[in-house]
Amino acid sequence: MDKKQQKDWKWQLKNRITTIGQLEDFINLSPPEKERIGAASGRFEWAITPYYAGLMDPDNPDCPIRKQALADVEELHDNLGVPDPLDEGKHQPVELIIQVYPDRVAFCVGNRCAVYCRHCLRKETMFGEEDADFSQEKIQRGIEYVRENNDIRDVLLTGGDPLLMSDERIENVVCQLHEIPHVEVIRIGSRTPCTLPQRITDELCEMLKKYHPLYLNTQFNHPREITPESERACAMLAEAGIPLGNQSVLMAGINDSVEVMKKLCRELMRIRVRPYYLYQCQILSGTRHLRTPIERGREIIEQLQGYTSGLAVPKYVLDTPYGKIPLSPNYVVGREGDDFVLKSWDGKVWREPNPVELSHEDTVEEPQLKACRQRCSTG
Ligand code: SF4
Repeated sequence: MDKKQQKDWKWQLKNRITTIGQLEDFINLSPPEKERIGAASGRFEWAITPYYAGLMDPDNPDCPIRKQALADVEELHDNLGVPDPLDEGKHQPVELIIQVYPDRVAFCVGNRCAVYCRHCLRKETMFGEEDADFSQEKIQRGIEYVRENNDIRDVLLTGGDPLLMSDERIENVVCQLHEIPHVEVIRIGSRTPCTLPQRITDELCEMLKKYHPLYLNTQFNHPREITPESERACAMLAEAGIPLGNQSVLMAGINDSVEVMKKLCRELMRIRVRPYYLYQCQILSGTRHLRTPIERGREIIEQLQGYTSGLAVPKYVLDTPYGKIPLSPNYVVGREGDDFVLKSWDGKVWREPNPVELSHEDTVEEPQLKACRQRCSTG
């Protein structure tokens, strides 16, 4: 492949790797490794852009890029995992729309992705169907649903990856949503900055920047994914005024260590992407080998909080059929009388007098005033 072709996102998509033979142009595979991939291939689809395959360590079977993208026989040994852990099927008022919260919806505009991630929440409900942008008619019905429901102020375009549609099709959807008076914010969920950074073109950015406020959340899971190409893609989006957030998934053997997560979060900040969520890997079919105990995630967040800037610390959450539930460690240790007893990032204990609600006529009680002065003089 020549360098010019590699920079073309359509070429990358057309030449995705889907066979072991093609994979061997990028990495060395032992016979047992080939068997592991082959055994799971019939069950869960896999496809990898040449760009992303080029990030794999050719000789290390435990490479974090390989683990995210290569089918593995372990996917077949999961008695606990369920196909739809968020019960998304039950939250669809119309086809393509998922609504859990009253004021926002996820709008699945296609089922294609540049790389089929082994941990994908929709690996059972989306993979395996023929790759497709959804029909204009279905998409139009989704837009009409948003238009008719005045409470919806925030629309997340998802899928699949919405940025695998053509610029024209993306603009058609974004422009119509933007014109709906009660839609205040449009968000795009796309992993292309990580798995297909060539997709972020000048033309795409020029088009998107007409529809602010528009946000983009992407997914980097390991610092190895941050490359000159992904950095360039994120810079282009940021220059177009699009705030960027990152939603990592915590996965065993990939990023379940303090060192890896700290490096990832710092690198993300450097390329202008705010670490936003760290997701607990759900009890999802075919992911037993990737799931980590919740204690591990909390330990990682504890080792980030205070040890790196607050902007670089993601919220650790579990997504459930009832919405996202924070799992972050608790820094409120207890109550002593009216005081809250708190723990600092490095384990020091702080007692915070709980402010009473004052009416205009009230004066501040003496002990509270004294505590306040004391803290001001030491702070
Ligand atoms: S990019 Fe997102 S939607 Fe697509 S396979 Fe990966 S996790 Fe799933």
